[in-house]
Amino acid sequence: MKYYLYKILFIIFLLSSNINASSISDKYFYAKKNYTTSVIIGNKDKQTKYLKQLISFGTKLKKDVSDFKNELRMISSKKVYIQKKKTYKYKKKTKKLVNKYYSIKSIKTYKNRIIIDFNHNVSKSYIKFTEKKVGKIYYDVFDIKGNFKDASPLKLKIKNIKKIWVSQYRYKTLRISVNNTYNTKTIYKIEKKRIIIKAYPRKKVKKNKYLKKNNKIRIITSQNNLTRNKIIVIDPGHGGKDSGARGARNVFEKHVVLKISKYLNDELKKNGFKVYMTRTRDKFIELKKRTKFANRKNANIFISIHANSVPKRKAHKIVGIETFFLSPARSERAKRVAALENRSDMKKISGYSSKNTVLSLLNRGKITASQKMAIDIQGNMLYNLKKYYGKKIVDKGVREGPFWVLVGAQMPAILIEVGYISNYNESKRINSKAYQKRIAHGIYLGIVSYFSKN
Ligand SMILES: [Zn+2]
Repeated sequence: MKYYLYKILFIIFLLSSNINASSISDKYFYAKKNYTTSVIIGNKDKQTKYLKQLISFGTKLKKDVSDFKNELRMISSKKVYIQKKKTYKYKKKTKKLVNKYYSIKSIKTYKNRIIIDFNHNVSKSYIKFTEKKVGKIYYDVFDIKGNFKDASPLKLKIKNIKKIWVSQYRYKTLRISVNNTYNTKTIYKIEKKRIIIKAYPRKKVKKNKYLKKNNKIRIITSQNNLTRNKIIVIDPGHGGKDSGARGARNVFEKHVVLKISKYLNDELKKNGFKVYMTRTRDKFIELKKRTKFANRKNANIFISIHANSVPKRKAHKIVGIETFFLSPARSERAKRVAALENRSDMKKISGYSSKNTVLSLLNRGKITASQKMAIDIQGNMLYNLKKYYGKKIVDKGVREGPFWVLVGAQMPAILIEVGYISNYNESKRINSKAYQKRIAHGIYLGIVSYFSKN
């Protein structure tokens, strides 16, 4: 049962809310966190307080605060009729503001190009270029006058380039940093409302030689990056007096997920990753402590391991492995699934519109990363298990939606359901050492695959 885990992750918000904010953007950041928390706990007074802060700091930062204003109206107005009228008026007004405040319409990549589209004409004075080398990395930095709504920061990928970071460096300066392990030549071009940055290797040395050399560097760095700097927090669900789901054959969720987590921990450590577990024995851990732990360890990824169950009358036919990540639901299907998953926890969230406002605050980069990780891990688990169990292994897929269970994580986070212990046969499998090792290996392969690409 995931009920406790939902709570655990909510607390992550609470943890980061007490730090003294110095700059306005810090204050905005903490107001965002506090507001999210207040929506989750359903405290209207606090929602009002933090919405006001968001509007005030957001306005100073020239952000689009129309959603917050609408939300504030919804909360504070008592007469629905009047409120509707006002909201409508306001919406009409804000359309222009968006264009004014976000001068950059879009950022995209094509082959070896980064294309930045503005809402207005741009000139040479809009772009400042600096070059530097720190350690083995070459940085080509473009500071561009303007702001982009979705620079949170954003990672881009183009041909031949190791890494491109896009971030709102200052509120009127967008920074694009092209980072590479060899000297890159970058040039830029201005075309009316568009800036195009092109990147390619500077030296056109004999192709084969160059590629060989380059490949070598890449392999070394990717191995180093893959293991040495990566911190993983594994969260075995439940523990102690909270046993989680009770399955067929008297299998307890808390026991099987701990065993799988331990096998995963061993394999990751053996391969040079830094790994921490929220618990290593059958112990009840306060939700606050779990999240404090995860935050303190500054993890790159958070993996929560659970086992699923359904009521007895359905138990014989429901089996399968699934991986969840958080995203604002788009499709009706996703919304339905999420509503089912969230169940009782949704009651605490005060209104539909608050839910949407919180979801709109989610960090896009984190969602994308969580999704990528979920896909890699689900795929590798299935691949590895099917080798041994064939068709008995059912792929329930990667699921997205407004899963409150994952809202609080500061790092890419997923929740794995290793199977249904309510099903007699699946429960037997999950309780076996062989299956536990094999699924752990599958998760391991997924993690490696995720890090090697990101
Ligand atoms: Zn659970």
